[in-house]
Amino acid sequence: MVFVLIFLISLNAFSYNEDVFNKSLDWVVELSKYYEIMDEHPDLEKINRIGYSLAQNLEDKNLYSFQIVKMKEANAFALPGGFIFITSGMLDLKLSEDGLSALLAHEIIHIKNEHSLRMEKRQTLLSALSNVLILGALFGIKDEAPKSTAPPWYTVPDSKWGDLYGYETKKENIIEGTIAFSVVFQELLMQGYSREFEMESDREGTFLMAQAGYKPQGVVELLDKLKSRYYETPDLGYWRSHPYLEDRVEMASVRVQQLKEAQEKKNPLNFQKKIQEKFYLLYLQEKKEDRKKILFKIAKNSCPKGVLSFELNLRELSELEKKYLISNQIERNYEKVLKMYRKIIKNFEEDNEVAFSLKKLKDRYEKIEEEKKDCFVIFEKHFYESFPSTNYLEAYYENYKDTTENPFPLIFYGTNLLRLGNEEKGVKILVEIYNKFGIEVKEKVLEEISIFSKNMKDLNALYEASSNFKEEFVKKNFENLFLENLKRNESLLELRKFLDNYPDSPFYRFVFEKLEELANKAYIKGRAFKSVGNYQATLDIYNKILENAYDTKIAEKIRKELKEGGKL
Ligand SMILES: [Zn+2]
Repeated sequence: MVFVLIFLISLNAFSYNEDVFNKSLDWVVELSKYYEIMDEHPDLEKINRIGYSLAQNLEDKNLYSFQIVKMKEANAFALPGGFIFITSGMLDLKLSEDGLSALLAHEIIHIKNEHSLRMEKRQTLLSALSNVLILGALFGIKDEAPKSTAPPWYTVPDSKWGDLYGYETKKENIIEGTIAFSVVFQELLMQGYSREFEMESDREGTFLMAQAGYKPQGVVELLDKLKSRYYETPDLGYWRSHPYLEDRVEMASVRVQQLKEAQEKKNPLNFQKKIQEKFYLLYLQEKKEDRKKILFKIAKNSCPKGVLSFELNLRELSELEKKYLISNQIERNYEKVLKMYRKIIKNFEEDNEVAFSLKKLKDRYEKIEEEKKDCFVIFEKHFYESFPSTNYLEAYYENYKDTTENPFPLIFYGTNLLRLGNEEKGVKILVEIYNKFGIEVKEKVLEEISIFSKNMKDLNALYEASSNFKEEFVKKNFENLFLENLKRNESLLELRKFLDNYPDSPFYRFVFEKLEELANKAYIKGRAFKSVGNYQATLDIYNKILENAYDTKIAEKIRKELKEGGKL
């Protein structure tokens, strides 16, 4: 694929606060190791459109960017230099565009007015930020991150704890970095700004959104929604990082009355294009791989239309093609690539600037679709003639699950996943096949899964099976297995996952009680470590509790302890 970005080379240097920006970017790299920065969230385009509608009215030296980070808690936070993050939990609140603009405007003002730099706390945000970098250097944090979707406590210091949390233990020095990161993260997310700064952000934020054409009532909507949701747990999420909500709601209501009708909205697309060019230029100049990756992501997400945006999408596409349209034909995962083609075609369908390139892209898409269809025979033949590899099975499943009449490779794939210990995905696939095919296939699926069920341990997989297979004896069997394994379960993470996945389950209460019990047990061990001066182990355990059992009494106790005891 040829890139046609010659015009960019003539870009003038632009001014921004390089120092602050660079420090924060390092921190974003850290963040992205532990929490997914989402590329596919349906609200991503909207967040950027609204964010830049607001930012285009400012004349400060910050390079604003708006990302969605995968996190259950409803929250939003900003880093000096212009990085703004909204959690996916915040978007679950389904705010209107006015509500979202209130949120983004508030965060923008925190950055514009340099609130984090002006904080007078002993442990200010900025010192916490530089701490993580210093700690990183001291302990030699590895550049290689653990899997990006894994939480920070994936690696634990001692094999005993590995068992306790249901993880394989790897003794690596990544752990110190993990602790440093988590402490900073708590600092960033859980410590609010002063009342003065919060009020200032609300006040100036409201004017900013009105200036950009949003209804100031959005502020009231935002605060009301957060209030109703978090009334019972005022120490969580947005409440905690953005305190004084009661007062702020009142102030906002008064202010909204005073403001005249909102002004007309101005399309931010041209501004977005300019910002995208800046981020792209930074990406080109960057030497470090992990920073480059983030800058690419930001550049791509910042603007959905235009020539450069199209090129960035193509760049990603060609990476996918290299990875999945490999020389070994029977492992080609066409669907992984085709999905991206469909997305690009949909996004740029109406974009005249790229009409010609899009036409070419569509031709290539058709060709790959053809090839996929033609290869079905080869794929199917392979299943009967040699022992299928996991890559082959995954490719077969993704390429042909919707078109094939042959359920056997699919069943084989599902049971293969169970055999490999990926119980959740295995069950999901077997349920899919069970629902799609006739009685004979259903029986085959049940027969297969009953062979594996005895060894299954994952609560989420067991519950999924018990609620999806309709036959009474199968259902009962999985329910019993679920309850047995719940008794034995020692993984806070797995329990939390269940609570998040199945809030309406009749077993919710049991699981929550188990979570409390485990958290208490872990806390006692944490205290024991503390009493002999092993603070790292204590912090590690506390972090696990705060993340996975944040809504228990013991988590509350830990928060108090950390607050009062400073750094332990
Ligand atoms: Zn705030």
